[in-house]
Amino acid sequence: MRRFVAGESIDDSVKAVRAVNQAGCLASLDCLGESVATEPEARAAAEVYASMFDRIASEQLDCNVSLKLTQLGLDISQPLCEGLLEEIIARATAHHNFVRIDMEGSAYTERTINICKRMQAKTDAIGTVLQSYLYRTEKDARELTAAGVRLRLVKGAYKEPPNIAFAQKSDVDANYVKVMKILLTSGLYHGIATHDPRMHQATKEFATEKGIRNDQFEFQMLYGIRTDLQQQLIREGYRLRVYIPYGTDWFPYFMRRLAERPANLKFFISNLFRG
Ligand SMILES: Cc1cc2nc3c(=O)[nH]c(=O)nc-3n(C[C@H](O)[C@H](O)[C@H](O)COP(=O)(O)OP(=O)(O)OC[C@H]3O[C@@H](n4cnc5c(N)ncnc54)[C@H](O)[C@@H]3O)c2cc1C
Repeated sequence: MRRFVAGESIDDSVKAVRAVNQAGCLASLDCLGESVATEPEARAAAEVYASMFDRIASEQLDCNVSLKLTQLGLDISQPLCEGLLEEIIARATAHHNFVRIDMEGSAYTERTINICKRMQAKTDAIGTVLQSYLYRTEKDARELTAAGVRLRLVKGAYKEPPNIAFAQKSDVDANYVKVMKILLTSGLYHGIATHDPRMHQATKEFATEKGIRNDQFEFQMLYGIRTDLQQQLIREGYRLRVYIPYGTDWFPYFMRRLAERPANLKFFISNLFRG
């Protein structure tokens, strides 16, 4: 678990962010949690996120924040969730910082996009995520960039049916490159989030071809995954943000990381039996 998650406490995560910053990378902090079922849980999560901005500022870390709307009670009540998000954004704005709304499964795509658009009309301190495995993503990318929304592009981590998502990896990758081009030419600052060296190469080549400077976008990768590539991008002069999850509710995040790569599962099981 510790390979993918910085620890259980905010102090553990601050240590991880500091190490990542010292290695020349930016960070995004996620207090793990999703699908909360009660209002007190949603309020508690919102308080954790709001105070995270105070801690980031007092520790002088180069770090923004990533969160999930179901952690803020989207399954319980949309007005509750939006109200809590507004409070978090207010704290982010007070510290000149930024909130990234992670994208969850397709049941939440439309609502996440609409909430983000509404909030973005009031502040630049917010952005969201698009997943290249969804057919709708190219259209979403065009609409959201036209509305001025800053995006993180990922391939997508949830199991989605073939009527809404590409089933073949080659199609997901081709769509990733297509949408990356929409983002890079939008004039906004976006995150290209992947560990796939072919996606990095396509992004670098396209940026060079279009005269887009290295400081006009950033690559993003997950804590503990392909640190060799992370350092390589830094050495080449690119901006790289590391997504750092922490907290006690690590199980769903950990399972998504295992599912992405069968080798992780083998590694996990062999260590489990080694004790
Ligand atoms: C910063 C960041 C934020 C993200 N936020 C979201 C989000 O909000 N919503 C969402 O649905 N998904 C999110 N994801 C996950 C994403 O959708 C993919 O599931 C994940 O990044 C794996 O896809 P890939 O682009 O790395 O390419 P892949 O083609 O899956 O992998 C390329 C290579 O990367 C390495 N790799 C990939 N995954 C792993 C792993 N788990 N363990 C070890 N090596 C691995 C392997 O070397 C692999 O060959 C995020 C990813 C990143 C990097």
